[in-house]
Amino acid sequence: MSFHYTPYAIPLFLSAAISGALAWYSLRRRKQAEAFYFGLAMLALSWWALCYGLHVCASDLPTQYLFNRLKYVGVMAIPPLWVVLALQYTQNQRYLSRRNVLLLFLPGAILLFVVLTNPWTHLWWPSIWVEDFNGYPVFKRTHGLLYYAHTILSYLYIIVGLGIYVRFYRRTARIYRSQSMLMIIAASIPLVASALTQIGLSPLPWGLDPFFFTLSGALIAIAIFRYRFLDIIPVARRAIVDQIPEGVIVIDANHRIVDVNPAARTMLVAGETEMIGQPLDAAVQDPQLEQALFQIIKPGGQPGHMQDVHLDGRVLSLRTTPLLHEGDESVGQIILLEDITERIAAQQELETLYREAELQRERLALIISNASDAIVLFDAEAKILADNPAARKILPAGHGEPLPPALQKLLAQAQATSKTANAEISLGEQTFHVLIAPVPGTGLVLTMHDVTHFQKLAEMKDEFVKTVSHDMRAPLTSILGYAQIAQHGSASPEARQKAMQRIETSVWRMSKLINDMLDLAHLESDIELNLASVQLGRLARTASEDLEEEAQAKGLAFRYELYDHPPIQADPQRIIQVWRNLVENAVKYTSQGTITIRVETMQKQVLGQVVDTGIGIQPIDAPYVFDKFFRAENVPAEQRGGAGLGLSMAKLIVEKHGGRIWVESEVGAGSAFTFSLPLPPERSRANE
Ligand code: ADP
Repeated sequence: MSFHYTPYAIPLFLSAAISGALAWYSLRRRKQAEAFYFGLAMLALSWWALCYGLHVCASDLPTQYLFNRLKYVGVMAIPPLWVVLALQYTQNQRYLSRRNVLLLFLPGAILLFVVLTNPWTHLWWPSIWVEDFNGYPVFKRTHGLLYYAHTILSYLYIIVGLGIYVRFYRRTARIYRSQSMLMIIAASIPLVASALTQIGLSPLPWGLDPFFFTLSGALIAIAIFRYRFLDIIPVARRAIVDQIPEGVIVIDANHRIVDVNPAARTMLVAGETEMIGQPLDAAVQDPQLEQALFQIIKPGGQPGHMQDVHLDGRVLSLRTTPLLHEGDESVGQIILLEDITERIAAQQELETLYREAELQRERLALIISNASDAIVLFDAEAKILADNPAARKILPAGHGEPLPPALQKLLAQAQATSKTANAEISLGEQTFHVLIAPVPGTGLVLTMHDVTHFQKLAEMKDEFVKTVSHDMRAPLTSILGYAQIAQHGSASPEARQKAMQRIETSVWRMSKLINDMLDLAHLESDIELNLASVQLGRLARTASEDLEEEAQAKGLAFRYELYDHPPIQADPQRIIQVWRNLVENAVKYTSQGTITIRVETMQKQVLGQVVDTGIGIQPIDAPYVFDKFFRAENVPAEQRGGAGLGLSMAKLIVEKHGGRIWVESEVGAGSAFTFSLPLPPERSRANE
């Protein structure tokens, strides 16, 4: 085996180096099928160029013969690899079954066997010899039939590969076009080279193939480095586009589908319909979805425009992004489809929960803000966090004033013990039951319930017991005293008679007190009124008959001013009771002058009035005369016999009839007690 230097080998070794480097670069990325097949093709090319180079450098026939044969390992592998790469690169992997790939490689393998066994079979090159060319030995041979069969087969493979790229070029988006064009040119070069060699246009005794292959390799290198197609396209397609759950459709400017990922395929069509290359409207089967898609991709539509479509129970969110070539030229659009059914359902559930919580919160806030009890929330440092209107009314503390000391003390106690503290605390005229409870994680909550009324009631009860026992004891004491006088042996019949009269008066007073109390209690319970149509003036006369005599006996004038008035619906017995109480008081508290009993109609009511010229009522007492057991201080001692229940009873009866009672009075000049009773509706209309 001997070699010599020849410049003709330089481009061949260069070609071997470039394709070898490309093979190394691609095979490192062999996880992507394109890179793997391209790498193998480059490896085959590199082998071919290397063997070719060594063949050119060989200085004897056997060596030239050997490398010329070995070169065919690469030569035979390149055409089928070229077809496989084209199918893979253009996403036609479905044709790349193991059987098909084996079939593609089979003819080459058989022919390779023929080449390698040529020294024995002479089927490839029937005769070989060496000629001199510019001082270099050149391997010369005649070609057998199989050699020509191989040439035709190689053209066929290369043309098929070219066809695949051309078809892809026509269907693909413009952004991929420069890249596929480069691949087409790269693929055409060996064809041209081989054609030139075949028709004998080569200026050299060897074929032109290696020079053209170097060019071809360089072009593919540009395709790789400039467009980085081995890096970007397969990675982007596999990792990002094919595997993401969102559907991705790429359409060109004519709304033709350029690319579609599996997710979009299942969202858009049923079954295995070919979508790539189809117009969008032909590929999408659902008319509603088609309409929505065209709405968002329409020209002039906002980039990034979104729309939701509801399709039999599913909700799809559609979004577009313009596909710009070199910055601004729009070459198509990317449509993203996302199935948001579950998200929408979850969102709706959240919204319902939120609304419910909000409703609960509003209800709670309403209850708290309308509560008559003061409610205040404190933080751990006893600073007010929140309070309700009732609290703001009772405690102006929220407005910068300190809390009342009693409250501060209770707050400190609850804070220190972390236990509920409660106490009765008086603030001004009011008394509150205060409760302070710890709230884990927040601080303390204070509630204040106004118990002033209950306290007043308790005081009233004490007062009542005191008054009643006093009012009972007085007549009892006098009964006891007079009974002793009456029983005394030395008492004269007149004295006895007088004592018996006093005993009778006292008993009578006690009985009146007890009757009044029982009556009042009866009235306060929910009694039914025995309503009848009555004349208020007539009832006034019935009530005053005997009192008129009493008044006259005291030297008082008694006058009726009963103006014409319609009948009213009232309980006659109870109204007589009102009149009696008022007239009795007038007679009792007047020593001279006149007592006037008046009845008149005013608007929708009838007014009853008792006017006297008696002692009158001091302004300070006036608001209380209708209270139970109230007796004014200005009443002379001999007239203090009353229990202070008459006016409260009158008030109760009038109010039960839907009316009102009031007094106007001047000390020393007299008093006017007036009560109003409503007219029945038809009467009140007639009176208007
Ligand atoms: P009493 O049995 O003490 O009269 P009332 O309830 O009828 O009880 O009256 C309450 C108080 O109102 C009386 O004690 C008296 O001080 C005052 N009063 C009632 N009527 C008159 C009046 N006509 N003139 C002055 N004071 C009156």
